[in-house]
Amino acid sequence: MKIGFYQRAAVGLLIWLTALAARGELKVATLHPLLTDLAQQVGGDKVTVIGVVKAGTDVHHFSPSTRDMQAVSGADLVMASGKKLENYLGKLQDSLTGGQKLMEVGSSIPSLELSEAAQLMEAAGQGQAGHTHGGVDPHWWNSVENMQRATRVVAAAFAKADPANAAAYEANAAVYLKKLTDLRKWARQEISRIPPGQRTLATAHLSLGYFAKEFGFKLIPLQGLNPEVPATSQDVAAAIDTIRRSMVRAVFPEQGVNPKLLSKISQETGVVFGGELIADGNGTGPLATFTGLFEHNIREIVQALKAEP
Ligand SMILES: [Zn+2]
Repeated sequence: MKIGFYQRAAVGLLIWLTALAARGELKVATLHPLLTDLAQQVGGDKVTVIGVVKAGTDVHHFSPSTRDMQAVSGADLVMASGKKLENYLGKLQDSLTGGQKLMEVGSSIPSLELSEAAQLMEAAGQGQAGHTHGGVDPHWWNSVENMQRATRVVAAAFAKADPANAAAYEANAAVYLKKLTDLRKWARQEISRIPPGQRTLATAHLSLGYFAKEFGFKLIPLQGLNPEVPATSQDVAAAIDTIRRSMVRAVFPEQGVNPKLLSKISQETGVVFGGELIADGNGTGPLATFTGLFEHNIREIVQALKAEP
């Protein structure tokens, strides 16, 4: 009887240990919802991902609470977007005293400078700074190519932090990279339904620069670069003038930005009021993943701008 008990206890211990291993030894904290998705894609069941900045959060104005700081200090690796998106990184770095590694995923991705983003803008007179975080556009995630680059960087970082599972991270990354290649192919096919002269995105603010560069669009950020500055009647008149001169087909509201101005512009000019785009990578539900969010944005853009059948 006694031996039976110890045998059962030993089996129980083994099951517990196996479960622990399966749950993942590498703990990763993420500071952007799309990095939570990316860490899960690459980590699979080998990594425990702690999403500090949750889906639906305003990524520009997030500030970590004491609880968030505790969650971060319990991780082995902390993933930030970088490109000056998180203005609290210095403070966070100082609080990491347990040897945790802080990686800025965006620092491995070529930056779109303000001057370059401005070249994608069709209209003149939209020069005020604000949303560009010191001359660099932080919205690197709005590009499939950038997300592929990020996938490789994250897989390498996971392999370095947890060499025993390096092969698994590499295999997961390969599967995801293929998915992203298919996504870009699908996006290009969809975009081909829009006549080249109509590939202009009139949005609230400048957040789709990387997207415009990858897929050949012009940008008209109607509220300039900073959507938080309320539009004056002069701004509204200038925006309406821009829309008329540029022969734009549609204006697109953005999640998290008050659509009042765009709605007014749409009413006064008669251009289509398009579906809401998610530019900050903070969708919820099925739009919380990069592929879900990107497909959504492409569908809304094509729906509003495609040639009439
Ligand atoms: Zn933004």
